[in-house]
Amino acid sequence: MIIIVTGVSGSGKTTLGSLLAKNLHLPFYDADDFHPTANIEKMTHGIPLTDHDRWPWLDHLAENIQKWESSGGGILACSALREVYRERLQTVPDIIWLHLKGMKEVIAERMAARKGHYMNPDLLDSQLNTWEEPGYGYHIDITKSPEEMVKEVLSYPEISQAASHIGIIGMGVMGKSLALNFAEKGVPVSVYNRFVEGKEEYVASQFAEENTEFPLLKGFDDLEGFLSSLQSPKKILLMIPAGAAVDQQIAQLESSLQEGDILIDGGNSFYEDSNRRVKALEEKGLHFVAMGVSGGEEGARRGPSLMPSGSREAFDILAPYLQKIAAKDAHANPCVEYIGPAGSGHFIKMVHNSIEYAEMQALAEIYQLMKYGLKLTYPEISKVLKNWANEGLRSYLLEITADILLVRDGREYLLDMVLDKAGQKGTGSWSLTTALNFQVPYSPLSEAVTARMLSSNKSNRVELAEYYGHRFGAFAEDKVILIEKLKNAYALTRFINHEVGFDLMKTVSEKEGWNLNLSEIARIWTNGCIIRSTMMEQLVGIFKDNTSIFTTKSLKSKIKEMKLDLTYIVGLGLQHSHALPVMSAAANYFLSRITTDSPANLIQAQRDYFGAHTYQRKDDPSGAFFHSDWKASVPHPS
Ligand code: NAP
Repeated sequence: MIIIVTGVSGSGKTTLGSLLAKNLHLPFYDADDFHPTANIEKMTHGIPLTDHDRWPWLDHLAENIQKWESSGGGILACSALREVYRERLQTVPDIIWLHLKGMKEVIAERMAARKGHYMNPDLLDSQLNTWEEPGYGYHIDITKSPEEMVKEVLSYPEISQAASHIGIIGMGVMGKSLALNFAEKGVPVSVYNRFVEGKEEYVASQFAEENTEFPLLKGFDDLEGFLSSLQSPKKILLMIPAGAAVDQQIAQLESSLQEGDILIDGGNSFYEDSNRRVKALEEKGLHFVAMGVSGGEEGARRGPSLMPSGSREAFDILAPYLQKIAAKDAHANPCVEYIGPAGSGHFIKMVHNSIEYAEMQALAEIYQLMKYGLKLTYPEISKVLKNWANEGLRSYLLEITADILLVRDGREYLLDMVLDKAGQKGTGSWSLTTALNFQVPYSPLSEAVTARMLSSNKSNRVELAEYYGHRFGAFAEDKVILIEKLKNAYALTRFINHEVGFDLMKTVSEKEGWNLNLSEIARIWTNGCIIRSTMMEQLVGIFKDNTSIFTTKSLKSKIKEMKLDLTYIVGLGLQHSHALPVMSAAANYFLSRITTDSPANLIQAQRDYFGAHTYQRKDDPSGAFFHSDWKASVPHPS
């Protein structure tokens, strides 16, 4: 939506324009700010501008109007006194023109009262003589108060019934937060939620009614009304549960969509389903964008990390909108980028979530070691974690863990009241099956999923704990020294978790021909998402020049040093009956990656012994396969 407020200098364009911008959550622009310096000089000295001066300025404004329109809109205050000037600005259809009209005396009085403005009041007569009254748009009487004017403007049908740029289906936690995020950035947005009689009634319309501070947010309880409220090409974001619900929703929408319309799935769909949907909809002339969204409710509301894939053409149309709502990285660039073809956006979201699982489990193991092994209190553990954050280990998950440890429920800590059964669904287990399918070692991350599964069988754990008399052992070592070792063990575990996840992305990208940019993926994960951290910021640079964290020269000596602490802590923890699924798997993974002579020779020999699977020989560089009659060759004791 583009609104242009016109009128002579002093008529109140800036006042009305900026107030409207605030109410509509649209950006406000003052055309005077786009004048070249030479024009400003002239005006300051009371020299009227010629049309020769104005054309480049108006062309520059016209270009910007197109840009603003393609990202939701904006409000421009511009004198635009002559019809030829206004024609020059009419570069997008449906501009809403507001013309401010008033008596010369009222305007002159206002101009005289203005300070620090370069417009010479003597120019008022010349401006009024130049003014060509337009026969279109809305003419507003400037003697009304700015608030009255705003109220009047908001009731104009072009505004109150303006077509929405984005439609969102699914008013759950994420859909609502994203809708408010779009609305706050001035993007006209329509929302819809299925209507289930007696259960889910008027969810979308009520949501819009509860948020009247966003006049460009419209709620619909009927799909038809929702669809006809959308600008063409329609851009519809699905924020509903993954699986059958997405297919059903697409099937319901398809017949009402036209060639070029865009469907975006922002849920946690399995990427193979997205591969299928991108292809099927493309064949029907529709665009499908499979978009991972991370950041939970808060991220969706304030700035998520967005991972769109599929139709490149659709991404180019969506980019200005997505850039508006996304989180910003340390250089103020939006945490959104085109990921690649097909369902690659959902694929990397799945990997993101599996790293998230492992990062959470690593912190849970650290908490367990500190609580039972070091006998630290919750405030003490929280303090250690906060120190670690300041010593280069800052991450969103570390910070929320430090907070969680301090929350009380009456006299108790709330954490002690929480049942120790962790849930997992979708992305966690899909990442394991995907890693297996592509033969990518995934043990530290898969252990995090397994740990949640093991935790969920509480009654069996209680029974076996009693049976075996399990107790966590306390450590006798010096606490200060152990905390330093724990820090290094934790830091290396995190590097390993990320190495494993990025390795899966690298392998799948090569096999699928997706050309994923690992550095760029790390960049869009530096903010807005759950695994944002200072380490992720480091990875942006690391993956520019390396394909593996382990071969990054600048990290080599630090990793060698931390390796000693990781293996020490894992050994100590296991000896004292602490299960450390992720940390021990990380240590095993790392040691296995850096071992020259693995015991796999024995595995191959066993396979050949019982199954004639053959083996290759170290002393035969041709790579030929051999079979031996192991049984017959066993020397018998004499
Ligand atoms: P949610 O709060 O449970 O909301 C789900 C929404 O989908 C509700 O509006 C629900 O409508 C609607 N819905 C359910 N079944 C439907 C069906 N068969 N057809 C049409 N609509 C249906 O879920 P959410 O947390 O917003 O998550 C939405 C999607 O985003 C999921 O795929 C989720 O995995 C993903 N996601 C979630 C998070 C998070 O932190 N929550 C983060 C990233 C991604 P009713 O009210 O009528 O049931």
